Amino acid sequence: MTIAVCSGSFDPVTYGHLDIISRSANIFDKVIVAILINPNKKSLFSVEERVELMRDSVRHLPNVEVDSFEGLLIHYMQKKGANVIIRGLRSVTDFEYEMPLAAMNRQLNHEVETFFMMTSSQYSYLSSSLVKEAASYQASVSGLVPPVVEEALKKKLLPQR
Ligand code: ADP
Repeated sequence: MTIAVCSGSFDPVTYGHLDIISRSANIFDKVIVAILINPNKKSLFSVEERVELMRDSVRHLPNVEVDSFEGLLIHYMQKKGANVIIRGLRSVTDFEYEMPLAAMNRQLNHEVETFFMMTSSQYSYLSSSLVKEAASYQASVSGLVPPVVEEALKKKLLPQR
């Protein structure tokens, strides 16, 4: 059984992430979406909120599990018996950022392989940070994030009346 891990901040989950997660779920026996708890990175949603939004968004995928982790990804993977890391690629910038990470993870554990998946072209410009910026100016983000995330963004960002 091959267990793959899709790791990231997912602050919040977008259709770009879900595209990569669902395509991975078609290939691997089991996919764990591992949400990183990173005290050094300011996030809009707490880790509990991000886990909840992700769980709601992948409910229809029976072989996908959602979890959070702290520390090094390869330590978490050892604990879970996973040996494939999935990362999505949108651009050359993503590639440059991902290369040293993949090399470092391989150095730390030779049994772990990083697989890169090209984004579907309609999501190549999509990022959590752009979604947050657009939502903060009351722009509609439907079509970019699932409805539960759209609602959560409204609650979090729009002034209470
Ligand atoms: P990180 O903080 O680790 O970059 P993100 O939540 O931004 O976490 O992204 C998690 C993963 O999803 C990364 O592999 C990233 O490249 C990928 N990703 C993000 N947005 C998209 C998108 N629109 N299409 C495909 N992959 C994406």
